[in-house]
Amino acid sequence: MMNEKVRETVRAELAEIKKSGLTKEEWPITSPQASHIIVEGRRLLNLCANNYLGLADHPNLIQAAKKALDERGYGMASVRFICGTQDLHTRLEARISTFLKTDATLLYSSCFDANTGLFEALLSKEDAILSDALNHASIIDGVRLCKAARFRYRHMDMDDLEEKLREAKNHRIRIIATDGVFSMDGEIAPLEEICRLAEQYEALVMVDDSHATGFMGDEGRGSIDHCNVMGRVDLVTSTLGKAMGGASGGFVSGRRELIDLLRQRSRPYLFSNALPPMIAAAALAAFDLLEREPDRKKRLWANTQFFREGITAIGLKIKPGVHPIIPVLIGDPMQAKEMSKRLLEEGIYVVPFSFPVVPKGEDRIRVQISAAHDETDLAFALEKLKDAAREIGIIR
Ligand SMILES: *Cc1c(COP(=O)(O)O)cnc(C)c1O
Repeated sequence: MMNEKVRETVRAELAEIKKSGLTKEEWPITSPQASHIIVEGRRLLNLCANNYLGLADHPNLIQAAKKALDERGYGMASVRFICGTQDLHTRLEARISTFLKTDATLLYSSCFDANTGLFEALLSKEDAILSDALNHASIIDGVRLCKAARFRYRHMDMDDLEEKLREAKNHRIRIIATDGVFSMDGEIAPLEEICRLAEQYEALVMVDDSHATGFMGDEGRGSIDHCNVMGRVDLVTSTLGKAMGGASGGFVSGRRELIDLLRQRSRPYLFSNALPPMIAAAALAAFDLLEREPDRKKRLWANTQFFREGITAIGLKIKPGVHPIIPVLIGDPMQAKEMSKRLLEEGIYVVPFSFPVVPKGEDRIRVQISAAHDETDLAFALEKLKDAAREIGIIR
């Protein structure tokens, strides 16, 4: 029986969350993750998955996973360095290094683990981390676990970063940490400027490319490819849980010595189970598909451009940019909520975001485009968005 005081304390906290409208609910889906999903028996157009390349239900990935399941079993029941490494893991690590043109790669169960296991393993109190104010929660947690001095620079503000680099100049190792793409706005970090400053002030650069690996840049190698800074970034972390099939898994890829040290010291790698063989096998199939089906990436970008132009033509405001994350700005929390409710009634699944997840007055619905969508899907979504926005009085 739980102590009554504890129960009351926790209940009060839950009530507080509910009162501020921040309660998160789950939506059980009874279909694969795809352009459309089945929720409570209804078929909905899905505009909020990270399934950028539409690989989450790709037959090649499913087949590769099934084959590995049959041949290699279900799980490893071990961390990597005891008896949890199959050739599939080492092949996937080598494959990622080749893809990103890095020296070496280390797999984790997730990018969250990769980020929380990175800083503490490489840095100590003589060192310094310079972190963008809007970095992903996992980078923030990773920084918290580490004894290095912390310098938080204003979001994408290169003057502020330079000032912090000057302040940090007496620290032994300095590392700049940034998301490659920021998920709320789909903004791309100014990696060229960041690398230039890093070179000038002799700092390392770490980029979390979770919202870019597989589709950004000419070869789909990420924001580092898009910004043309491959080889100048020391560490890239990313996920296999978004564009690359969407199951799970993450990695750190970069300079040999840094990866070697992570392999010796990184706690989520040392103390958490190895990735299941079927996921490593399916991830290898996903990397094959990047080469074999380059049209997927093209379709994603064509879809994104089509939707960005369409939404602007309707008279709705979006955050400018190029990324398939498209924040449709509503500016009022009730209206944003009402928009998503009406769209749901019309068979479209999108989620509203309000303060404190985004700044006050920047209430929005966040659309995420996928290669799985076709033009009919997107034209339908634009039509319904227009109707809903008119009815609510956001546009005329
Ligand atoms: C999604 C995401 C993560 C977490 O990735 P998982 O593999 O799901 O743990 C980390 N960083 C960023 C920037 C992300 O968008």
